[in-house]
Amino acid sequence: MRHAVIAAAAVTALALAQPAPYDLLIKNGRIVDGTGTPWFTGDVAIRGDAIAKIAPSIGEAAARVIDVHGQVVAPGFIDIHTHARRGITQAPTAPNYARQGVTTVMEGPDGSSPLPLAPFLAQMEALKISINIGSFVGQGSVRSAVIGDVNRAATPVDIQKMVALVEQGMKDGAFGLSTGLFYVPGTFTPTAEVIALAQAAGRFGGMHESHQRDDAAKLIESVNETIAIGEQGHLPTQISHAKVVGVANWGRSVDMLALVDAARARGVDVTIDQYPYTASSTSVAAALMPAWVLEGGRAATLARLKDPGSREKAKGGIAAMIRDERGGGDPKNVQFANCGFDASLAGKTLADLTITRGKAATIRNAAETVMWIVEQGGCQGIFHAMSERDLLRILRHPVTMIASDGEVPVFGRANPHPRSYGTFARVLGVYVREKKALTLEDAVRKMSAAPAARLGLTDRGVLRPGMRADIAIFDAAAVRDRATYEKPHQYAEGFSHVIVNGQVVVENGELTAARPGRVLYGPGKGRVP
Ligand SMILES: [Zn+2]
Repeated sequence: MRHAVIAAAAVTALALAQPAPYDLLIKNGRIVDGTGTPWFTGDVAIRGDAIAKIAPSIGEAAARVIDVHGQVVAPGFIDIHTHARRGITQAPTAPNYARQGVTTVMEGPDGSSPLPLAPFLAQMEALKISINIGSFVGQGSVRSAVIGDVNRAATPVDIQKMVALVEQGMKDGAFGLSTGLFYVPGTFTPTAEVIALAQAAGRFGGMHESHQRDDAAKLIESVNETIAIGEQGHLPTQISHAKVVGVANWGRSVDMLALVDAARARGVDVTIDQYPYTASSTSVAAALMPAWVLEGGRAATLARLKDPGSREKAKGGIAAMIRDERGGGDPKNVQFANCGFDASLAGKTLADLTITRGKAATIRNAAETVMWIVEQGGCQGIFHAMSERDLLRILRHPVTMIASDGEVPVFGRANPHPRSYGTFARVLGVYVREKKALTLEDAVRKMSAAPAARLGLTDRGVLRPGMRADIAIFDAAAVRDRATYEKPHQYAEGFSHVIVNGQVVVENGELTAARPGRVLYGPGKGRVP
């Protein structure tokens, strides 16, 4: 009997010493591990949802072997700033993201998040999407819930209520507080009020992500404000989709980056994200109408546009924004992405529509067209008002990471900004291979380890044994974006395989049926501050 026990124990010990074969073995990769370390040749073995081994050559058995023949094997990309809830329920496989190597997207940007957050995250769990998703809690959504979309100061009781909502968002699993002080109602928020909310997010270990109050004439004040929110909110802060809008302001990325460097030198944890395009995208109303016209919601806006005095004043304000800000100085530089009231306008410009309406395409006439658009129900627009030199300068800065600011387009519908389909492939194709503005290793770091560290994701963003197996495999010589402003519905090319939590979601460049994405929860999940 005793002997039998010993024999059984020996058999068990032998079984433990003999590891189970790997589930997946990636052979002959050019491994870019995400840290910025130069690439090295090697194999990556996966067991379950995790990386089990990385070595120059792995000879052990695996259920499945993929020989990648010298393609780049990188951590799956982490997109820290997206509007993925636009479209994710219609397209849970998020093909525009998966097919450019993105394995995690963050929602709740620009001060706008689902509120409360928990039901949204539960919905994402139930939906079973192909990539991972997490969220911020939005300051604008919080202010809107407590105060409404009106321009008034918060009372102490309002502040208490807003802090409680931010705390609840953090406990629900937000990664931090997002602000969109450019938008209504964020634009009505004084900095001190934001800081009170930022402190609440910071107590739970969250970060602050900022769509700045003004990326045009008041860019520098806005950079200082983002830094102050981090400094006085005692939390990491990030300038999101950093940009310099309006010809008159081009070149001021120099000052922006100098402020970031100075803040970091004195210990403020400020970083940047950016998309690699010189056009932005948001609603025509938000981009080209002064905030006072939009205060209080649609009915109030329409009433103002009916009043001849305020209509004339609005027209002057809109004309100035076309001339000096998002309009890029010319109605030709404003393109429609999606107009709910007339789908045929997608892709046309503000100049085209002004001419169609029987007027010359002057800035004043275009301002009249903008008011008409808002009266019809509004459009999403694309605004060509940035310079390539600013883009490059920001891109090369060591604290800049890559984020799309995109959404999940329904394939073929409307004319969305190409960033949703092309951001990551464009950086690798245009800014690494063609322009040599970044090394391959640095670009991958900006897409993986840098955003992972920012979010406090300690088990993703780097290729290393024990990390979750989120992996992007691409041909460095062939990777490219194909989406353009005219024809955005084109998937990126060059990604042969994309793996999420150990499951292959893209195989030979095509989506599989796998939907292994998970909801990721931030540092405050379930915590008491
Ligand atoms: Zn934004």
